[in-house]
Amino acid sequence: MSAPMVDVRSVHKSFGALEVLKGVDLQVRAGEVTVVLGPSGSGKSTLLRTINHLEKVDQGWISVDGALVGYRRSGDKLYELREREILKQRTRIGFVFQNFNLFPHLTVLENIVEAPVSALKRPRKEATEAARGLLDRVGLADKAGAYPKQLSGGQQQRVAIARALALEPRLLLFDEPTSALDPELVGEVLDVIKDLAHQGTTMIVVTHEIGFAREVADTVVFMDDGRVVEQGSPGDVLDAPRHERTRAFLSKVL
Ligand code: ADP
Ligand code: MG
Repeated sequence: MSAPMVDVRSVHKSFGALEVLKGVDLQVRAGEVTVVLGPSGSGKSTLLRTINHLEKVDQGWISVDGALVGYRRSGDKLYELREREILKQRTRIGFVFQNFNLFPHLTVLENIVEAPVSALKRPRKEATEAARGLLDRVGLADKAGAYPKQLSGGQQQRVAIARALALEPRLLLFDEPTSALDPELVGEVLDVIKDLAHQGTTMIVVTHEIGFAREVADTVVFMDDGRVVEQGSPGDVLDAPRHERTRAFLSKVL
């Protein structure tokens, strides 16, 4: 069996005295979609941020696509990465945030072109052409010249997805991509994510959209209090959860 695209082993992370990740293990295979569920404060965002190097782990390690991105604080220099290597690895991981995080002073097209030009040193003309293709893919070809504030939340989030794709990532991370949206705009964003899933993009999606999890996830992970409590197929975790905490959570969101 091939090595997983994402391999998280015994990851611990504290903020001061607060231990937020208490030994998390997670494996994601290439081409698979993992949906992470769990109550607010359970450590879901922190887990995504450690995978993307936005937070350093205190203990344990993480590898993405064969490259170690985690590190051990306890003196094991082997796993410590230098800032340059971290930046390089991060360009291969796309991150889509709850609040879109588009650059407000740049047009839609410029938002997408920025990273491939600055991080990957792509010629601007080539990056612009690719960006137009991506905008078409997320159904926003006609919005290239608009500014983010002229778009709906759903459109902004689709731009954010196109921007993440512009780096041709090996892995896409979504942190509650639809939870800041009005209900009627959720579907258009989930449809774009579903398309990506069907094209075999490897992704980890933190969301409370159970219908999406059921339809798209290969694996559903339930986190609570800094630990993975339960993981398995959508049928197992959503329809026949083994743990009381999973059942209690699902009864609130379903
Ligand atoms: P979730 O995404 O599941 O809601 P988070 O990973 O955002 O959970 O947060 C888990 C816990 O860590 C929360 O108690 C949160 O307040 C705390 N936390 C997250 N980031 C920081 C930080 N940078 N500094 C201090 N505490 C943090
Ligand atoms: Mg969160």
